[in-house]
Amino acid sequence: MVNEQLKQRFLKYISFDTQSDDQSNTIPSTEKQKDLGRYLCEELKMLGVVESHMDEFGYVYGYIPSNCDSKNTIGLIAHIDTSDEASGKNVNPQIVKNYDGSTILLNKELNLSLNPEEFNYLKNQIGHELITTDGTTLLGADDKAGIAIIMTVVELLLNSNIPHPNIIVTFTPDEEIGRGTDAFNYKYYEEKGCKIAYTLDGGEPNVINYENFNAASCVVSILGKSIHPGSAKDKMVNASLVAIEFNDLLPKNMIPSMTEKYEGFNHLVEISGTVSSAQLFYIIRNHDMGIFKEQKAMFEKAAYELNEKYGYDLCNVVVKDSYYNMKEIVLKYPDVLKLVEEALIENNYVPKYEPIRGGTDGARLTFEGIITPNLGTGGQNYHGPFEYLDLDEASSMINVVISLLKKYNI
Ligand SMILES: [Zn+2]
Repeated sequence: MVNEQLKQRFLKYISFDTQSDDQSNTIPSTEKQKDLGRYLCEELKMLGVVESHMDEFGYVYGYIPSNCDSKNTIGLIAHIDTSDEASGKNVNPQIVKNYDGSTILLNKELNLSLNPEEFNYLKNQIGHELITTDGTTLLGADDKAGIAIIMTVVELLLNSNIPHPNIIVTFTPDEEIGRGTDAFNYKYYEEKGCKIAYTLDGGEPNVINYENFNAASCVVSILGKSIHPGSAKDKMVNASLVAIEFNDLLPKNMIPSMTEKYEGFNHLVEISGTVSSAQLFYIIRNHDMGIFKEQKAMFEKAAYELNEKYGYDLCNVVVKDSYYNMKEIVLKYPDVLKLVEEALIENNYVPKYEPIRGGTDGARLTFEGIITPNLGTGGQNYHGPFEYLDLDEASSMINVVISLLKKYNI
């Protein structure tokens, strides 16, 4: 069943263009994110969340005190911004009621459609109400579906006497550019005694994420010896050719296009070079800390081998860690996951854990002492024109979240 308030909220939120920009150095990276932030802050106030505010960085916080004896404080987090991989301006949502399982045409001129043979998950969504794009933008379900779910949970709790713990609602900017927690108000969470939170930023309702990559970046600089090609014999060292050699020393199959699930990779993001110098830029990813360390060592080893071979320090490697897998920490607090499992089962879902092949704000929060797994929102195919939201699934996440919150009434 579709929750009409959630639907109206979602349609309103996606009318705001909140694209973030990784080229910008400000917080938030784009001022327009604050337009939605202000709106959300007002909405929280209107719903009766007396203690709500947006700070100078565009983070929106709302605090809802417990209406029972619960001493727990639980954070509910979603992000305001949308990906910079596709426009989020002038989103023109298409509503598909009672989906019949056929191909959904998104845009005739652009020849874009959602075909269940390509997007298999659609086969599970027959009879549901879906919201798609018109093929020219992304939809913004990532993560305005999360915001709409949280906001509707707040509304339902404040308009009923369902007992609940203390809740901090938080809407953050710049998640898509990896800066969603850069100006996070940890102090506020600490003051409220909040050590457990959930991001609502996933896909299928039954999927829980608490494992993400360990991540590092690596810059390889190569210094060649440039000499006139006519007299280069035994003298020239072509930095560009050494760059190719460097990459050849890394495992051939450990690249994004040949890995999935728990398999890590080294990803050559950028390469540039002349005869006299060359640079390679990689990102290194693995769920397993041990293998992650081995991967980083491979880069050092490749540089060492080349320096030995050419007889001078032509290759320099700088590896920098970016973030770590939150798994190790989350597993120390098994209830944080177990209670989600129970809430899902109560709502007729079969809980499933999936590793995130990327990072998450939850990982950073977890390392700062706020254990934060990620839950689904009913959105699919994020960051592009094929993005859509299943309104039935999003609506049922309202019940899952309320079931979950009730479990903290201890
Ligand atoms: Zn997201």
